Amino acid sequence: MTSRTSAADPSTASTSARADAGTRPLRDVVFRNVRPFGAREPVDLVVVDGRIGEGAAPAGADVIDGDGRIALPSLVDAHIHPDKTTWGGEWVSRKPAGSIAELAEQDAELFRSQRRPVGERAYGLMAHAVTRGTRAMRAHADVAPAYGLACVEGLAEARERLKHALDV
Ligand SMILES: [Zn+2]
Repeated sequence: MTSRTSAADPSTASTSARADAGTRPLRDVVFRNVRPFGAREPVDLVVVDGRIGEGAAPAGADVIDGDGRIALPSLVDAHIHPDKTTWGGEWVSRKPAGSIAELAEQDAELFRSQRRPVGERAYGLMAHAVTRGTRAMRAHADVAPAYGLACVEGLAEARERLKHALDV
């Protein structure tokens, strides 16, 4: 079990939360007693302005005790299609396609068969990825006569809802 406390003397604590590109507040954090990539000896990782650095913890930093656990970077999904997911709905099996055109038509059929909007389905999948450690993803969305901009707009909606936890 990890615990979170505040570092140093509260009288010297920093009260200014900075922002990441104006969208997300940045806090200084110390991950105490962790083993990067499974190193033998635990260390303290100090994160200032969203970057791991060296040196002492800034006053007022949040402290998370890793209890000797392994510290790994968060996950990045480099290729995902959240506009096509049926996450949270019924399982849909793909049929073999003999051509790209046939595959695209199956995608359009799947899109038309879904009762839940793209934004809701995409949010479900992307939020689940966040709970499993994904911090960033390169997401793709189809634009075609069969969809109009629904896939792009739905993906943007899900991205907005998750902007505190996920870079899309
Ligand atoms: Zn793809």
